This record gives sequence, structure tokens and C-alpha cells, in this order.
Amino acid sequence: MSESKNDTKAPPSPKSTKSPGGHLAYQRLHANMTTLKLGVAESIVDSYLESSAAEGKSTVEALDYLLDQEVKSRNSASIETRLKLSGFPVRKTLEDFDLSAQPSIDTKVVQELRTLRFVHNTENVIFLGPPGVGKTHLAIALGMEAIRAGFMAYYLSAAQLVEDLKKAAQQDRLDVKLRSLGRYPLLILDEIGYLPMDRVGAHLFFRLVSHRYEKGSTIFTSNKPYSEWGEVLGDTVIAAATLDRILHHSTTVNIKGESYRLMSRRKAGLPTPSPVIPVEA
Ligand code: ADP
Ligand code: MG
Repeated sequence: MSESKNDTKAPPSPKSTKSPGGHLAYQRLHANMTTLKLGVAESIVDSYLESSAAEGKSTVEALDYLLDQEVKSRNSASIETRLKLSGFPVRKTLEDFDLSAQPSIDTKVVQELRTLRFVHNTENVIFLGPPGVGKTHLAIALGMEAIRAGFMAYYLSAAQLVEDLKKAAQQDRLDVKLRSLGRYPLLILDEIGYLPMDRVGAHLFFRLVSHRYEKGSTIFTSNKPYSEWGEVLGDTVIAAATLDRILHHSTTVNIKGESYRLMSRRKAGLPTPSPVIPVEA
């Protein structure tokens, strides 16, 4: 890169733009920053150079600050993009999760999961437990950790997964769909067992689990113990083969507790709804 005499003045302040050469360098600086897509640095360069010159900062400090702002903004923009693409129905974090409310969860296990070693090692995590105990919360919170660490993560309810796979199969593009779901380093499959699967659904679910086996990490949540997955999948043979692959490299977190919402209402002295589930008319 060629340097004009004006460039040797460090750091260039807007004052230097008053000389003809300085004006040219100033315009080229902005044009080149636009070409290089340094949008954040470009938006702050004028005011920053002015204040850094007043504070007597060196050129290195000024350049470091500007580029650092650009990198920080790109990282957070890419995290935001990956979060938007993740399909998470809500955003939940591990910080928001009150472990003391669920004594059945081993804190050490959560700490280990938080390291994301399971994602690096393409292992699975399964959260089991009754409704409201935080299975979805923990699954999404780990997904957010993975996204923050630079991974792509994708969330689907089991019902949505089966619907998507059936649609793909009907359109003769099941392999493409399996490959695309196979590429996520972390897939979250929520609510297995809320709706029983039919034979086709169970078979497609097995195909996906087989496809991701030892290739990617999957977090499953279910309100049904493994002993009932035969009923969930409508076929004990498929259930056994599916569980065999899921559990080969995995951590199961069995949450035995009360619904967090009901617990909070009870603690606040509020009435808790009766356990009878109303049937919609
Ligand atoms: P599940 O998936 O097990 O049915 P959720 O994860 O959807 O339960 O939890 C129900 C609600 O209670 C969510 O809003 C969740 O954020 C909250 N919640 C559950 N457990 C906890 C907890 N231990 N600390 C904080 N919030 C919790
Ligand atoms: Mg849930």
C-alpha cells in the first residue's frame, strides 16, 4: 500500500482534512472503509479520531479501537443472526434458571453441559420429566450457549419434525431434508411423547436419529420415561433401535419435581389450578 505524506501524521484528525492531500485521504479512508464493509468503524471514525487526538492516543490505539468495535459488532450480529435462524420459540438462559427450585437436577451435570463438551463430542442430552419442570428452558438455554460459542443450533418440536419429514418424503426430498438437519452441530427436539407418532412418523424419526448418530449432538426432551417410548413411537422395535442410538453417547437429566409455575404460585400464596385438564369444546 502506498502512503501519502499526510498519512504519516498520527492519528489523522479532521483538522488534517483541511489540507488538500488530507481531504483526499479522508475521502479515500471513508470510501475504502465502505468497500471493506467496515460499516461500524466507518460510522465512528470521525468522532473517534477527533476525541482520540484530543486525548493524545497513539495511532495503534486508535486503529485497535476502531477494528475492535467492528469485530465486536460482527460477532454480536452473527450471534443475533444464528439466534434468529434457530427457531427457538422463546429465549431462555442458564442464568435465568433457578437450580435451587429443582433439587433433582445435579448442579455438576449442568455445569458440565455448560462447557458444551457434549456438542464438541457429538453426544446427546435428554431431559425427562413432567410438564413445567424446565425441560424446554434448559434445552433452549444450552442452545443459546452453543450459539454464543459459535455453533449453529436449531429447535423443532417432535410434532413439527415429523410433519416436516413427512412433507419432505411426499415431495421425494427426504434425503435432502435429512442432510440439512444432519448439518446442525446442535439440534433440539422438544416434546417427544406429547403426541404419539404413527408408524410413518416413528420410522422417519428413527431415520433422523440414525442420520445424526455420532455426527451431531441432539437435545431431546420428553415427559415420558424411556420405558414408555414404545407407546410414544407406536412400535417397541423401532423405539428400542432409536433409543439404542440416542443413548449410546448421552447424558440423561431426569427431573423429578413440581411444575415451576405452580410452585411459584403456591409460594406466592396464589391459588393453583386443579390438576384436572379441561377438555376444549
Ligand atoms: P417443561 O418444558 O418441562 O414443560 P418449561 O421449560 O417450559 O417446562 O418451563 C415452564 C416455565 O417455567 C417456563 O417459563 C420456564 O422458563 C420456567 N421455569 C421452569 N423451571 C424453572 C427454573 N428452575 N427456574 C426458572 N424458571 C423456570
Ligand atoms: Mg416443554
